[in-house]
Order: sequence, then structure tokens, then C-alpha cells
Amino acid sequence: MEKIKRTHVYVMPPQSYEISGWPVEPSHQVDWSEYEKHLWCFGCEKDFIPENDGIFGGPIPIGAMTMLGISLDRINIKTHEVVKNPYAQAVLEKREVTEEEIERFRATWAK
Ligand SMILES: [Zn+2]
Repeated sequence: MEKIKRTHVYVMPPQSYEISGWPVEPSHQVDWSEYEKHLWCFGCEKDFIPENDGIFGGPIPIGAMTMLGISLDRINIKTHEVVKNPYAQAVLEKREVTEEEIERFRATWAK
């Protein structure tokens, strides 16, 4: 499988999104890999694909996650800019997300 470089990572570590299942020492620290679908193991110094995508394996319960304080904001790896998730913002502000916000969000996510 060809590895595709990420443009963004989520602001919280993979475990925050219930991503799990890796054949490594439980004591090893993991974080987002620079490649999509992969995580990085600091102990083994290699990328791997976790068995379980956590919340990204299905429809994301944005309302529930936001209320639990789990952020879906992203960081642009190149610019270090934080990109707020407009759906989560709308939940916090108890309003509907606007088309303009969705468009702007999609534009930042594009490569
Ligand atoms: Zn490891």
C-alpha cells in the first residue's frame, strides 16, 4: 500500500479517539504518524497501522464527543495553524453549522 503524507493531525493523541490495537510493547508511546492511516511508535521508531480506527471507523458522534471535551480540531503540519472543526463549534454555540463554515473547513483540509 502506498503511503500518503498527512497534511493535518488532530490536536489530541490517537488514544483520545479510541484508536487501539497495535502489536507493540504496551509501554511504548505512540502518536500520529506523518502518513495517513498510520501511527508512529516512539519505542520501535516505526510507523504502523492500528487494528482499530476508533471513532473514525464509523459516523463520528460529534455532539457527544464535543460534550466530553474531545476536540476534533486539526493542526496543519506545515503551518502549525489550528483548524477549528465547524461542526463542533456549532454544537458548543448551540446553533447550526453554516455552508460557508463547511466550505472553509473543506478548503483547509484539501492538499
Ligand atoms: Zn513500539
